[in-house]
Amino acid sequence: MREKNHWKQIWEYTKKQHFWKKCLLFDLFCICLAFAVIMSGMGRGAKVKQQLTAALQKQEDAKLTSAKAQGDTGETEDEIKDNQIDGQNLEKKKVALTFDDGPHPQYTPEMIAGLKERNVKATFFLLGQEVEKYPEIVKQLHEEGHQIGNHSYKHEQLSKLSMEQACQQVTRTNEMIFDITGVYPSYIRPPFGDWHEKLDCEVNMVEVLWDVDTLDWSSKNHAQIVNKVLKNIKENDIILMHDGYETSVTAAMEIIDTLKKQGYEFVTVDEIIFE
Ligand SMILES: [Zn+2]
Repeated sequence: MREKNHWKQIWEYTKKQHFWKKCLLFDLFCICLAFAVIMSGMGRGAKVKQQLTAALQKQEDAKLTSAKAQGDTGETEDEIKDNQIDGQNLEKKKVALTFDDGPHPQYTPEMIAGLKERNVKATFFLLGQEVEKYPEIVKQLHEEGHQIGNHSYKHEQLSKLSMEQACQQVTRTNEMIFDITGVYPSYIRPPFGDWHEKLDCEVNMVEVLWDVDTLDWSSKNHAQIVNKVLKNIKENDIILMHDGYETSVTAAMEIIDTLKKQGYEFVTVDEIIFE
């Protein structure tokens, strides 16, 4: 009986103090607070997500722009820069520099260094007798990405030789180049541009002549060599030079620098022939 009264007293007390109402109010307050916290968290989350999406999109756009620029032209960023003058994209006109009679112990390495500095690939038609003497330079030409062609073994006029002798001049040089680079040359520039008419049957190679003859071996004059090219050059031309003279090296560099500014792009002969 005494205990029952005790409970009753508690009940009366809580009723008097509006305890349950207070509890209900407190619960409501807690729920509202929790709701507010969750909503603000969600808001922040959404904002962070939005920022992340924007950043990712920006990155993706940058990638696409760069891929498009490179995909369109197949160029590296350096090459793209080379072809932009004053922020303008110039239409590219292909030309090929070719160097005969090498390798030369002094001027071919100088030529290679100058071409590398300018990010230009050229084509070198080598003589077997010089390949024999300077295999390291041949290896360097190949490693630097230049195209190597055959210019016979010792610069004899092929049409004046017997078929057997002419073939030997060509195949012997091909074998030497293959031993050094692991690649058989596909292109031949016959000495004096004189192709043995029946040699096609014996040797399966593409003959490469030229469009602009600099006569660099004869003039050995920097300005004359440069002017000869600048006056006569047009799109898809093959320029004939020789890498055995200092003036040919310096002139080739000026030709590259000037023609690049005019929107020309230097390629190896295969890109001109199989255009
Ligand atoms: Zn020659």
